[in-house]
Amino acid sequence: MELDWNNIGFGYVKTDYNIRCTYQNGEWGEFEVHEDEYLTLHMAATCLHYGQEVFEGLKAFRGVDGKIRVFRMDENAKRMQSSCNGIIMEPFPVDRFQEAVLKVVKLNERFVPPYESGASLYIRPLMIGTSAQVGVKPSREYLFIIFVTPVGPYFKGGFQTTPYVILRQYDRAAPLGTGIYKVGGNYAAGLAADEKAHSLGYSAVFYLDAKEKKYIDECGAANFFGIKNNTYVTPKSTSVLPSITNKSLMTLARDMGLKVEQRPVPIEELSTFEEAGACGTAAVISPIQRIDDLDENKSYVFSPDGKPGVICEKLYKKIRAIQYGEEPDIYGWTTIVE
Ligand SMILES: *Cc1c(COP(=O)(O)O)cnc(C)c1O
Repeated sequence: MELDWNNIGFGYVKTDYNIRCTYQNGEWGEFEVHEDEYLTLHMAATCLHYGQEVFEGLKAFRGVDGKIRVFRMDENAKRMQSSCNGIIMEPFPVDRFQEAVLKVVKLNERFVPPYESGASLYIRPLMIGTSAQVGVKPSREYLFIIFVTPVGPYFKGGFQTTPYVILRQYDRAAPLGTGIYKVGGNYAAGLAADEKAHSLGYSAVFYLDAKEKKYIDECGAANFFGIKNNTYVTPKSTSVLPSITNKSLMTLARDMGLKVEQRPVPIEELSTFEEAGACGTAAVISPIQRIDDLDENKSYVFSPDGKPGVICEKLYKKIRAIQYGEEPDIYGWTTIVE
């Protein structure tokens, strides 16, 4: 089998193995390595009816030195625990999460794209409630799975800006709801808005806070940041998913001499940013060309010529250099797969 590394998108490509672990009778079992892509599930499993599902997303990169690096998996492990606690599922131990990631990447080593391709191996841990129940209560049994799939470079024609849209008739997550957890239900809640945004030619929805529609929340499945006066500004909100990419960018921005502010960002402030971006594992940074506020008949333009801003580009290059082993990892963010 030879994959065309330069032309794989962000889809599902079958790999050799997935890893699983089940929780039964109050304890997690041994890891099981499977070749089968399918699950056998009871039709009354809580994940199917009451949405007991959490997931994670991280990547492994083939470095300039040929070594494979996984980025900040301890953070994903901790966030999955937080998501589990948020919807009353059994948290998976952090050390075993990391062990499972390294194991599944190693088993599927041949699917880690070569350095030159700019592609990477996407790692998708997930957990579901599996016990058969009809009444609404947390499952007693859980299944933890990690599968991997190679994904192409996010920017095919190079680092590029795209437009976003504010659609006030949709909310993603309530202020005291599940927005801070990485759960499938949040995505189901956002699909209609996503479809609408795409049909209007935008890359994603730009969400405001659900309660007052006054503050910025996030952009589709990515956090927002704006740059002005040598300052990196990102929303503080009880309905935003704590992005590990955003957390990393805040550290890098500080170390580049920028100020960093994490606080509520009122919508009017959009007009004051010199640059803006959406950040997450998939793209690292997706620079924002403009945000159209259709209800208010307004447009916030960050990049009139369509080119990414200089600070966005600098941050993007810096994080990628660490991920691909081109620069020393002074933060201890990467783990080499031996
Ligand atoms: C996963 C996710 C992000 C990005 O988080 P990263 O850890 O940077 O990949 C942002 N927003 C939402 C809603 C997400 O689900």
